[in-house]
Amino acid sequence: MSLAERASREKTLIAAAHVVELCRLCAIGSTRTNSVFGEGDPCAKLMCVGEGPGEQEDRLGRPFVGRSGDLLEKMLAAIGFAREDVYIANTVKCRPTLDTGHRLANRAPTPDEMKNCRHYLDEQIAVIRPRVILALGAPAAKTFMGERFSITKQRGQWFEGPLGIPITATFHPAYILRQTGGAMTEVKRLVYADLKAVREKVDAPVAEPATLEQQSLFE
Ligand code: SF4
Repeated sequence: MSLAERASREKTLIAAAHVVELCRLCAIGSTRTNSVFGEGDPCAKLMCVGEGPGEQEDRLGRPFVGRSGDLLEKMLAAIGFAREDVYIANTVKCRPTLDTGHRLANRAPTPDEMKNCRHYLDEQIAVIRPRVILALGAPAAKTFMGERFSITKQRGQWFEGPLGIPITATFHPAYILRQTGGAMTEVKRLVYADLKAVREKVDAPVAEPATLEQQSLFE
């Protein structure tokens, strides 16, 4: 990847993040503290997509911080990636909240919110063009694989994602953290298997399109 290409991608992503900052298409666009566009390597081979920002992400304007972020970093390290090696985004860029009367609680994004925000996610994917997309948790997986996707039955399976990019799903770090005892051990075993398959897919040789010189070699 040339430096010019990297710089061009960074510039496009920064411009898109500014558009997101101004977006008020959903009501949560007005209740958020910060938009959370995404972060990471604009030339990443792996893109991780979660469901949406929580309280800490909203406060800091960054995806996957706090305990879930720490666990995601450990999950990535288990397959040889540093956080900075991948690109991390969410299906929605604003924190979905529920007003409980005395505080704003996190909630899952609604289908309408995900639909409204999909354009920004697609733009990120088009700029980064990762080799593999990893959806974290059921809401993110359903964004790509449809409402009928079952995270318990279909995690670890491969699908064709946007632009033909291979996509798979595994459990969200927050879900893993909620498990205890034997359930935690079992979930970690499943997630590790999913992550190893992701690493293999990222490392699998890809056919590069033939250059014009190669195409005309035997003509
Ligand atoms: S969630 Fe996405 S579409 Fe909705 S207001 Fe935020 S940035 Fe805009």
